[in-house]
Amino acid sequence: MAAVLMKGKPVADVYRAAMETKIAEAKAKGIDVVLAIVIVGDDPASHVYKGRLVKLVESLGGKAKEILLPADTKQEDVIACIEKLNNDKSITGILPMMPMPKHINDDEIGAALAAEKDVDCLNVVNAGEVFLGRSRYAACTPRSCMAILEHYGIELSGKHAVVIGRSNVVGKPVSMLLLQKNCTVTICHSRTQDLPSIVKQADIIVAAVGKAGFVTPDMVKDGAVIVDVGINMVDGKLCGDVDPACEEKASAFTPVPGGVGVVSNMMVMDALTRNI
Ligand code: NAP
Repeated sequence: MAAVLMKGKPVADVYRAAMETKIAEAKAKGIDVVLAIVIVGDDPASHVYKGRLVKLVESLGGKAKEILLPADTKQEDVIACIEKLNNDKSITGILPMMPMPKHINDDEIGAALAAEKDVDCLNVVNAGEVFLGRSRYAACTPRSCMAILEHYGIELSGKHAVVIGRSNVVGKPVSMLLLQKNCTVTICHSRTQDLPSIVKQADIIVAAVGKAGFVTPDMVKDGAVIVDVGINMVDGKLCGDVDPACEEKASAFTPVPGGVGVVSNMMVMDALTRNI
């Protein structure tokens, strides 16, 4: 049987409809939903990401407030800016773009964020809630993986999920969210021995490695579900961490592009509207 192509757009569309309604209801009560985006410096990727988020929030009926600070802004001044936004009642959520310039400690910026305005789980309190299994508001990318699995009706309870990658933004939190859904979770990383034989045991594979075509068909059990988080440029072409030939072994898989990435920004919006 052909594998199910788990595209991101239908998932994002469901969230879009729900958020348009929520934002419109808030507006009717005189409440504007405003996302503050803080960028320090000229990192081109951050500016592209910012542009997409601004477009998205406005398309949902919300507003964006852009705070652009010079690259040499002192850490204490960035923190002062975040604290001002924390205390500003007209701001619903705050997203400081990471990574910050080298002289700024990203963790300190996350710690300065008011937990209830932290839309991408940068504050340790919010991360802790996810790790304690009390919150599903992890960072946007792990949440995107879970939203896709849920949308396509993938059975998770009791399944063996193998996550490749242990970063704080993807691998670790997605492992915790899978655990919340009663998966048996194995986390692989660069020191894992005999990684292919572990991946081969997986009912669900989440690849967050950052290496194009890292997961090959010989590592995939027949019928496995594959979530490909990877974003890699090879010869000017966007590709994932999973060799497309794995599709023949899988029962369902996310495409790259058009999979996890499409839903990630919508998860920022979902977190933004969670308290309204
Ligand atoms: P990262 O911080 O670089 O982490 C990569 C992880 O992969 C690390 O835990 C590393 O292990 C592991 N790894 C590297 N080489 C390996 C190997 N040969 N064998 C086994 N494990 C290996 O990356 P990330 O931020 O988690 O992102 C992962 C991928 O997802 C990247 O391609 C990134 O662009 C993409 N991404 C996509 C989205 C989206 O919305 N679709 C969002 C964020 C990231 P160690 O810990 O041992 O070093």
